[in-house]
Amino acid sequence: MTAWQRLQRLPRAELRAEQDHLLRRYVREYLYPFSPYYRALFDHSGVRPEQIRTVDDLRRLPLTKKQDLLPTDADPQRFKQFILQPDAASLKASWPLAKKLPLLWQKWTQGTEAVKRRLRDEFAPCFMTFTTGRSAEPVPFFYSAHDIHNLHDTGARLVDVMALDPEYRIANVFPYAPHLAFWQVFFAGQAAGMMALSTGGGKVMGSSGDLRAITRLRADALIGVPGYVYHLLRRAVADGLDLSSIRCVVLGAERVPSGMKDKIVQLLEATGAHDVRVFGTYGFTEARMAFAECPTKGNEYTGYHLYPDLAIFEVVNPQTGEVLPDGESGELVFTPLRARASTVFRYRTGDLVRGGLQYEPCPHCGRTVPRISSDLTRESSLKDLQLLKVKGTLVNLEDCAMLLGSMPEVEEWQIELRKKDDDPLEVDEMIVHLAVRPECGEDAAAERVQELFKSRLEISPNQIEFLGLEPMLRKIGMETEMKEKRFVDARPKV
Ligand SMILES: [Zn+2]
Repeated sequence: MTAWQRLQRLPRAELRAEQDHLLRRYVREYLYPFSPYYRALFDHSGVRPEQIRTVDDLRRLPLTKKQDLLPTDADPQRFKQFILQPDAASLKASWPLAKKLPLLWQKWTQGTEAVKRRLRDEFAPCFMTFTTGRSAEPVPFFYSAHDIHNLHDTGARLVDVMALDPEYRIANVFPYAPHLAFWQVFFAGQAAGMMALSTGGGKVMGSSGDLRAITRLRADALIGVPGYVYHLLRRAVADGLDLSSIRCVVLGAERVPSGMKDKIVQLLEATGAHDVRVFGTYGFTEARMAFAECPTKGNEYTGYHLYPDLAIFEVVNPQTGEVLPDGESGELVFTPLRARASTVFRYRTGDLVRGGLQYEPCPHCGRTVPRISSDLTRESSLKDLQLLKVKGTLVNLEDCAMLLGSMPEVEEWQIELRKKDDDPLEVDEMIVHLAVRPECGEDAAAERVQELFKSRLEISPNQIEFLGLEPMLRKIGMETEMKEKRFVDARPKV
């Protein structure tokens, strides 16, 4: 039985006790002795590693912010501070005898080289992905062979949570990139022994190439970014293709708007695919793992099922950083329990979760692992564009994205920010560009957008402009950009 099989139905108290144990060990034997950044942080905060005994003790330590990872003038390679870097002396001083004995034994029986190789496998970076901020400098995150093994493991867990059949043939249309989403799918396929075709997405093969590959493969599972998967299926319907082999769609790298699953199911119906499961997933570069929803007949948003033996999540007040009681909305904070190479600790994800973590067993699959509500705002994806202030109201651009992505009449959209009359000193203006379904009237759609923006977001776009589907696809760079251009800041730089 794997650790995951044993763990996923344990009572909450047992899961917590296991986390306490893993956390103690991780802090004493890995984080404090080998992480230059965290060793300094512990010392500076006056916290001894022995004082971190339970999950509740985490709050003794300050949170780590995204900015802490960014290069500074004094330290242009700041990311290195976060890599675990053991040496002979620190290993000797920090590891208990029970951990050192097997190494000594190996040294006697197989020689020093064998021990070196073993430590290299555990600690030496051999793979990397990047964070994907729009304007901020990308931050590299390294993996050792040990971490790649974890990526296999979480891949197998994703397949298990979504109840995918290992016989499934997978079409992975995430863009070829040093980003977690693509590689998590790649390693999940390897771990589960699934036949996976990674096309590289629209920028590499184009939607027609992708569709040809999917139909030839007779893929059972389609995996990619929501906007691109939707685009692909729309094209399949327009071309009258048969996608009846598809049984499930897995969406990742972005939040899934509430109406998006229904829109995808409808398109698939039109291509002959029935009773399809659509899943949302959640992951981020710094976690080096992803989490998924479990299947339900109605494709409900069942929450992301966590792995308590691999990571601890806390929910904190985004203003004060204080840990919030169960059930309260706040920002997710991530602490890994088995990470090597690049390691963050008590890391502020910038993602806001409504209703906090859910600890009651999942009503759908019965697993007892905590779940993150699917109602997640990825504030981090907006940080670079900032919240827009319109007539004194702060507007969360991602809420706009969720609203437009959910509207059945909207095919594609883009939000543009301008200054009135292009004058830097004038007020901001918001223009919503829309391509609507042919059967929907433009006036009715414009009215509906105005009404929804006003009632849900308390703002009114200054203008709504319409465009045909093809020019709109070009405008957002659907098959030419790595990421669709949904927000354009055309305000003159002051
Ligand atoms: Zn479940």
